[in-house]
Amino acid sequence: MRYLLLSDVHANLEALQAVLDHADKRGWDKILSLGDEVGYNPSPNEVMEIFCKYEDEGRLESVILGNHDKVAVGQCNAENFNERARKSALWTQEQLLPEYVKWLESLADMAFVEEDIQVVHGSPLDPDAYISHPAEARFALDNLEPNIRICFHGHTHLVMVHELVDKNMNRLIPTQDEFVLDIDKNGKYLVNPGSVGQPRDNNSKAAYGIFDSKQSRLWLYRVPYDIAAVQEKIFLAGLPEINASRLSKGW
Ligand code: ZN
Repeated sequence: MRYLLLSDVHANLEALQAVLDHADKRGWDKILSLGDEVGYNPSPNEVMEIFCKYEDEGRLESVILGNHDKVAVGQCNAENFNERARKSALWTQEQLLPEYVKWLESLADMAFVEEDIQVVHGSPLDPDAYISHPAEARFALDNLEPNIRICFHGHTHLVMVHELVDKNMNRLIPTQDEFVLDIDKNGKYLVNPGSVGQPRDNNSKAAYGIFDSKQSRLWLYRVPYDIAAVQEKIFLAGLPEINASRLSKGW
């Protein structure tokens, strides 16, 4: 199975469309979306429409509920959010069509795929925790369920792979437009494909991945998209202007 790895799409239709066009040329079977499908950007309903289309086609394997999704559907309040995130989440709450609110509400915050893959938003130990520092990654890897070999996660918006082989942890931070990694069958992995809709590694290109479970191979990609079109929509929607300017810089 070839999984399309999407995370933190954050209602960025133009970035999602560019990623799908790029991925379609490479081939994929089913989507794993690692949470925060909405929030920050101006196209929550259009992005939901795309997810629902793939669901109808039987091409959605797992979609995870992220922390911004929880606020957007009213499952959590926004008290832990900064001002711009809170404003964006409340705007999203007003915009989302009732059928998409219902759809998001039905999502889980964790999923298991095949025998050895776990899918979460933040960390396998806590959906809202961030994995960015090596110590956080090591702790999560050491505490994975014994049968889990690879955990796909998002939340930090940073492309990152932590690999535990023979008790040694490697930390890989790809910066190129295409990165390929053979997954060691005896290793344990945390893989963050980065954010489709709001990258934060000073690279404005949309980030995503493809994992071929049969070949045990991972590809991580960066794709340019029409940032100006999203920024225009952000201004028209009255969303915080910083949501627009940060996209050009990738933070
Ligand atoms: Zn996010």
